[in-house]
Amino acid sequence: MDIALSDSADLKRVRALCALCVLDTPQEDRFDRLTRLASAVLAVPIALVSLVDAQRQWFKSRVGLDTTETPRAISFCTHTVAQREMLVVEDALRDARFAANPLVTGAPGIRFYAGQPVFSHDGEAVGTLCIIDTVPRSFDEAARETLRDFAGLVEDELNKGALIDARLRAEQALHALNEELEHRIEERTRSLSEANDTLKREIRQRLAAEETLRTNEERIRTIIDSSFSAFVSTDAAGIVVDWNLSAERTFGWSRAEALGQELATLIVPENYRAGHRAGMQRFVRDGVGNVINTRIEMPARTRDQGDITVEMTINAFHAGGDLFFGAFLHDVSERIRAKLALQEKQQLLDTVLETLDVGVVACSADGELTLFNRAAREFHGLPPQALPSGDWASHYSLFSSDGAHPMEEREVPLVRALHGETIKDCAMVISARGRNRRYVLASGRRMIGPNGEAMGAVVAMKDITELNDSQRRLKVNEQRLRAITENLPALIGQVDKAGNFTYLNTLALRFYGREKSQLIGQPVRQAYSAPEFERVEQFMKLALQGKRVSFEDELTVEGRSSHYHASYIPDIDASGSVNGFYAMAFDITARKRSEIRQRDSEERLRTVTDNLPALISYLDTDLRYRFANAMYKQWYGVDPAAMVGKSISEIFPAHFCGQREQQLRRCLEGHTVQLELEIEHAGDTRILHSVYIPHLRDGVVLGAYLLSTDVTAARRHEANLKALAHTDTLTGLPNRRSYEAELEAALGRSARNRSGMALMLLDIDRFKQINDTLGHAGGDEVLREFARRLLRAVRKTDTVSRLAGDEFTIILECVRSPEESARVGAKIVEAMRPLFSVGEMARQVSTSIGIAWTNSAADDARALSTRADAALYQAKEAGRNQFCVAAAP
Ligand code: GH3
Ligand code: MG
Repeated sequence: MDIALSDSADLKRVRALCALCVLDTPQEDRFDRLTRLASAVLAVPIALVSLVDAQRQWFKSRVGLDTTETPRAISFCTHTVAQREMLVVEDALRDARFAANPLVTGAPGIRFYAGQPVFSHDGEAVGTLCIIDTVPRSFDEAARETLRDFAGLVEDELNKGALIDARLRAEQALHALNEELEHRIEERTRSLSEANDTLKREIRQRLAAEETLRTNEERIRTIIDSSFSAFVSTDAAGIVVDWNLSAERTFGWSRAEALGQELATLIVPENYRAGHRAGMQRFVRDGVGNVINTRIEMPARTRDQGDITVEMTINAFHAGGDLFFGAFLHDVSERIRAKLALQEKQQLLDTVLETLDVGVVACSADGELTLFNRAAREFHGLPPQALPSGDWASHYSLFSSDGAHPMEEREVPLVRALHGETIKDCAMVISARGRNRRYVLASGRRMIGPNGEAMGAVVAMKDITELNDSQRRLKVNEQRLRAITENLPALIGQVDKAGNFTYLNTLALRFYGREKSQLIGQPVRQAYSAPEFERVEQFMKLALQGKRVSFEDELTVEGRSSHYHASYIPDIDASGSVNGFYAMAFDITARKRSEIRQRDSEERLRTVTDNLPALISYLDTDLRYRFANAMYKQWYGVDPAAMVGKSISEIFPAHFCGQREQQLRRCLEGHTVQLELEIEHAGDTRILHSVYIPHLRDGVVLGAYLLSTDVTAARRHEANLKALAHTDTLTGLPNRRSYEAELEAALGRSARNRSGMALMLLDIDRFKQINDTLGHAGGDEVLREFARRLLRAVRKTDTVSRLAGDEFTIILECVRSPEESARVGAKIVEAMRPLFSVGEMARQVSTSIGIAWTNSAADDARALSTRADAALYQAKEAGRNQFCVAAAP
């Protein structure tokens, strides 16, 4: 029969069995004891420890059986192992699985089988402890328990070796592991320590490298910073990345300002920028550039827009994969300027030498003639020639000053100068064949190079052939000039550029009050006191700068003050340099004194006029103020000082001028004019009385004096007096004088207008009695009340007057008929009817009235008065308190 065991499971199980290392080992008591005990205790003939191998079952211990192994195919134990629990077959013949088993049907004739699986320590069922009987048996639970216990013991023994082995192996493994671990730790520690060492070494190396780098950088930076040349570095885009101290100095931009800026905008002049940028771009793109690694001169621009020339060496280099440019720039403007200046100087020297009328000859240190200028060539009629110095005198016809003796070599000025002598105005004669003999003054000296080396000698020769002549002419000129200056009424002096007098005429010496020897050749300063000189010095300085100056000043000589007007005229020679100045001065003391007197008197006049209560001014013929006193400020608010020089119309408004125009014109025609004007002043109307007096000299009007005084008070007083003369003080009515004038006027008007008029004469009735009863004062009161009633009774145009005592008159104008005048008479009689109250008293007052009417131009005042008087008389006669109209004539 087949037992369903998977190959793999069984393989695993067989491996576990093999691992126990008991298969095919000799018999051992420790198992036999157990099979014996099981056989005895369970009373079976056969007890086996059966180990189920791959193809067989092998018995480790057997009781009651000789066979050591049987094939697995007929094995009962295979079933037990397969089911992994106890298998009990009580009667094999009755069990279909085993009935045909040869072990049942044949020897040993198995009928009863009980097997308990035994397990390896790792849980595989490797075999069984089984008991066998040849007769059927029942197998109770107690027996099963006993079999299990024995099987347990077998299991222990079976696994013992393996367990011990396992423990040993484990211990060995542990030990090995431990050793391994220790070894690995040791290894690791060593490798770590090695790594650490490496790291330390690396760090040390890196630090050292960094230090080197830093030192190098510092060194480079120090070199760059202390470089005399400007060092500028830019990236490929031309942006500044480095800028040293020299660059700061050369271009004026500080490092902080320059970094990050485009180099072109910083230092390249505008018209070169495009070219500069294009060149850089070309180099960046193609690696081609004609300025790289070469020394070039180029124009540059400084921060303050100064143009300079720089010498530049530019390099391109790579750093960190990027392209950079580094340029050393050196300001060579000065060098170029110096070169140009030298060229110019050389040109100038050549030009000067060729134009100069002084002969110039020079030789090198070894005595070779190197230079004859134009004048020298002319003097000698020969060019310079390589000759020994001993031949110079004869070749170039040099004679001593007498012109007779040819010069010896040692006498030749150029030879002397070459030997170190400095020669000044050495007289000699050049007498070349076919040329005029020339008297010359030679001056010369040795030429020493900047390092003290001998460079030869130079001699200049002045032609003085014609000097005697011109000196004579000069003397004559000077004498003439002296004669002129001495006879001029001016102080004349000459001062050299050191500030010393070189000439003073007699008048000037007298002015300074000193001897000639005390002044000529002496500083100008000595002729003045310190404060005086300080004033003069500023003008001297200007004159010595080539400016013409004039000034006035005062000088005290021997306690006497003198005023003078001086002009300094610079003495400028043909080359334009100032050699000194001429001073010309005029004594203006007399004029000054009169000016001062004038000023003093003007001051006095002003003081007086300013304190007079009148407006005082002087106008010239153009109506311009030449003088105005302080009152103008007070009256018109005009500053008198500001008025001077201005015309009246510039200062005052048109109406002001208009009011005075006519009178001013008359005054300037030579008449004294008076006028009175009302003017508004300080909120009041004032009357100003002016007198314009012409200023005449020799019959010619030079101007006008204007005097104006405030006559307001006087005029008001006069007006009062005038009023008093025409008014009756008691009643305020016009008095007799007024009345008479008014009557004449009214008669005139009446005649002109052909309108009728009337004259009334009034006399109070029995006024003496009134006086007697009321007293004189009471009588006066009656007179005043009488006047008031009269005024009320007539028209405004009628004139009421008091003639004297109790006599009154009324002039009535525009009265068309005698009847109309009679109505006025009646009205007045009526007006007196109410009682007059005088103090406590009341009294009846009446009047008698005589009226004369006229409309004829033939009627005069006298005639009219006579008729009115007669009518009055009639009224009195008729009983008083009534009027009477006179009959027409
Ligand atoms: P008759 O009716 O005739 O006019 O009588 P009479 O008293 O008014 O006489 P007469 O006119 O002649 O007198 C005027 C008097 O007026 C005389 C004089 O004493 C008085 N008298 C003159 N002047 C003044 C004056 O100013 N004041 C006063 N109180 N009396 C005056
Ligand atoms: Mg009277």
